[in-house]
Amino acid sequence: MAHGGVKAGPTPRIGVYVCHCGLNIAATVDVARVRDVVAGLPGVVVARDNKYTCSEVGQKTIADDIKDLNLDRVVIASCSPRLHERTFRQLMTRSGLNPFLLEMANIREQCSWVHGHDREAATRKAAALTRAAIARAALLEPLERNVGSVTKSAMVIGGGVAGISAALYLANMGVKTYLVEREPSIGGHMAMLDKTFPTLDCSLCILSPKMVEVRENSNIELLSYTEVRKVEGQVGSFRVEVLRKPRYIDESKCVACGLCAEKCPSKAPDEFNRGYSERKAIYIPFPQAIPASYVIDPDYCRYFTRGGKCRVCEKICERGAVDFSQREEIVTLEVGAIVMATGFEPYDASRKTQYGYGRFPNVITSLDFERIICADGPTHGKLKRPSDWEAPRRIAFIQCVGSRDEHEMDGAGKYCSRVCCMITAKQAFMIKEKYPDAEVYVYYTDMRTAGKGFEEFYQRGRSEGIVFVRGKPGEIVESPEDHSLRIVAEDADSGCILDLTFDMAVLAIGLRPPGGLVELAQKLNVSRSADGFLLEGHPKLRPAETSIEGIYLAGCAQFPKDIPDSVAQAGCAAAAAAGVLASDRIEMDPLNPVVDEELCIGCRLCEKLCPYGGIKVEKTDKGFKARVIEVACKGCGVCGAACSARAIKMRHYSDDQIYAQTAALLEVS
Ligand SMILES: Cc1cc2nc3c(=O)[nH]c(=O)nc-3n(C[C@H](O)[C@H](O)[C@H](O)COP(=O)(O)OP(=O)(O)OC[C@H]3O[C@@H](n4cnc5c(N)ncnc54)[C@H](O)[C@@H]3O)c2cc1C
Ligand code: SF4
Ligand code: SF4
Repeated sequence: MAHGGVKAGPTPRIGVYVCHCGLNIAATVDVARVRDVVAGLPGVVVARDNKYTCSEVGQKTIADDIKDLNLDRVVIASCSPRLHERTFRQLMTRSGLNPFLLEMANIREQCSWVHGHDREAATRKAAALTRAAIARAALLEPLERNVGSVTKSAMVIGGGVAGISAALYLANMGVKTYLVEREPSIGGHMAMLDKTFPTLDCSLCILSPKMVEVRENSNIELLSYTEVRKVEGQVGSFRVEVLRKPRYIDESKCVACGLCAEKCPSKAPDEFNRGYSERKAIYIPFPQAIPASYVIDPDYCRYFTRGGKCRVCEKICERGAVDFSQREEIVTLEVGAIVMATGFEPYDASRKTQYGYGRFPNVITSLDFERIICADGPTHGKLKRPSDWEAPRRIAFIQCVGSRDEHEMDGAGKYCSRVCCMITAKQAFMIKEKYPDAEVYVYYTDMRTAGKGFEEFYQRGRSEGIVFVRGKPGEIVESPEDHSLRIVAEDADSGCILDLTFDMAVLAIGLRPPGGLVELAQKLNVSRSADGFLLEGHPKLRPAETSIEGIYLAGCAQFPKDIPDSVAQAGCAAAAAAGVLASDRIEMDPLNPVVDEELCIGCRLCEKLCPYGGIKVEKTDKGFKARVIEVACKGCGVCGAACSARAIKMRHYSDDQIYAQTAALLEVS
C-alpha cells in the first residue's frame, strides 16, 4: 500500500501548490515547511508555494507544470473551495485535464484563520490537510458533467418590494415568472410605511404603480395566499409544489366594491393597522392591494365559526364572487431558477418586558408608528397616543430594541438591524414637521447613518430641535393615573442623569428572519447564517447567490436592508437567474450516486432516507432495485452511507477516496 492508503497501480503525477494568500495564510502557517513536508509523498511530482495561487502568475505556474511535467492531478492548499474551486477547475479544463482531477485543502478558513495563536499547531494541521488531499487526489477519477435541459421560467418567493422588483426585472427580460406570496396581497412591509427616508416620498405612491405593473405584466403569474410545500430538482429544472389557500372569493369575479364588508356582521383586529383598528371577517388587506380582491378570514367568519350560518356576503355580492366551496389546492410548477425574497419580520417588542410593550398602551413600536402617522391609518394621519387618542406633546424614541443584543435571550439579534437609526431619524423628523411644538427625544447607542443623503437627513433633524441622548434607558415606568411614561437614563455625552416624563414612547424594533424561513430553507436546501437569515454564496463576490446553483437572494431575506438596497439586490438576483435561463442546456456537477444492481437487495433503506426523493426502488427483471432520479438527487451522500449492501457508490466521493483521505489525515506528522 502506498502512502495514505493509495492503491498500487499506475502512479499518479500530482502537482501540489501551497498558497500564502498574501499574509492570510503565511502569517500563521509556515508555508515553506508544508511544501517541504508534502514534496516527498508518493505520487507528488512537484510541490511549490505561491504568494497568490489564484493570480494570473499563480495559475500560469500550474498550467506550465501540467504541460511540462505531464501532471495528471492537481492539489491546491489554499482558501475554501467555495471561493476558488470553480477558478481552478476552469484552469484544469483549459490545460487539457479533467476538472474533477482537482482536490483542494482549505488551509485558510479551516486553519490559519482559526489557529492564529499557535503557528506550530497550525502548520502541522495545514500539512495534515494537504497530505490528506494528496491521498484523495491519487484516487480521483475523471468524470463527465451531467447535462440537463433548462425550463425557461422562474419563481420569486415573497412579494415585498424586493420580490416585486425581481419579478418585474425577470418578466421584462421576457421570462415567465411565478410570484408566490403567502399573504392575500403583495406589498410586504413597504406597503405599511407612511413616508420613506431620506427623501420622505410617500411609500405607497412609489410602490403601488409597481404592484399594478405586476398585475398587468403578462409574463407574471401572481400566486397570492400561496406557500411553497416541496421543492425537487436542480438548477435548470426545479419542480415546486405550492399550496394555494382558499380565499373563499373568486378573484376573477370580485371587483372590490366592498358591499360585502359593509354588511358583514363579524369584526376582527386589522393586522395591517397593527391591531389599532378593526376590519370585517371579509376584507381587503389595504385599498391598493394586489390582487384587488377580498378574502374571507375563516377564524372570524360566522359561516365557519357558527357551523354554516350567516352567508350574508354571498347574498349581497351582485357578482356571485363569494365561494364557500373553495378548498386548498396543490399546484406543481416547473421553473429553471428561483429567487428568494422572503423579507423580515419585526422583533416582538413585548419580549423586552422592561419597556412594557403590550402592557402600557402608550408604548408603541416603529412599525405601529408608521400606521398611526399614515393618512390611511387608524387616526387618519393624526399623531395620537393610544391610551386616550389625544395628541402627545412629548415623545421618546428608544433605539436598538431587539438588535445589537449581546445575550439574545429573547429572540433578539446580536447584529445591527441597519435601518432602525434612519427609521427613527425619519419618524422624529415627521413629528417635528407636523407638530413643531412637540418635544422629541431619541435615546440611542450610536447613530448609524451610512447611506446616500442619510447623514445630511439626520443633521437636519438635529437642527429642527430633536434631542439625541446617547444612552439606553433601563426601563419605562407607567403612571397608572394618566398612562404617562417615566424614563430615567444617563446621557453618556454630558454625564447627566435625565429623569423625564413622556406621553408616548416609540421602540425602534429590530428586523428578524421571518417565521417559516427555517422550514423553507430546508425545502430548498439553502443555508442560513448564524443570524438566521439566508446565507449568500460569497459575502463580497456572490451577494445575490446562495450555495445552491439556480437559487438567488433578494432584499431582507439575506439580511436587514433599506428599500434601495433591496431593489438593487433584486436586480442582481434577476440578472443571475436570467443568465441561467438564457441557455438551453446546463452542465451540472456529476455528484449523483451509482447503484450496482448486482449488489442492491432492494431493501428500500436509501429510498426512505433520501431527503429529496432522489432514489426510488423499482421492479426490474432482476427483482427490486434502487434507481437514482438524477434531477431530484442533490448528491448529499445519505444513501451511499446508509446502504449496508455497499451497492451505492458516490461518484467523486467513493469509499476508497474517503478512507485514503482519512487515513492520511490521521498519520502522525
Ligand atoms: C418601521 C419600519 C420603517 C421603515 N422605513 C423605511 C424607509 O423609510 N426607507 C427605507 O428605505 N426602508 C425602510 N424600512 C425597511 C423596508 O421596510 C425594507 O427595506 C423592505 O420592506 C424590504 O423588502 P423585502 O421585500 O426584502 O421584505 P418584506 O417587505 O418583508 O417582504 C417580504 C415578503 O415576503 C413574504 N413572505 C415571507 N415568507 C414567505 C414565504 N415563506 N412564502 C411566500 N411569501 C413569503 C412576506 O409576506 C412579504 O410580503 C422600514 C422598515 C421598518 C420595519
Ligand atoms: S359569511 Fe357572514 S361572517 Fe362570513 S364573511 Fe360572509 S358576511 Fe362575514
Ligand atoms: S445522494 Fe442519495 S440520498 Fe442524497 S439526494 Fe441523491 S439519492 Fe437522495
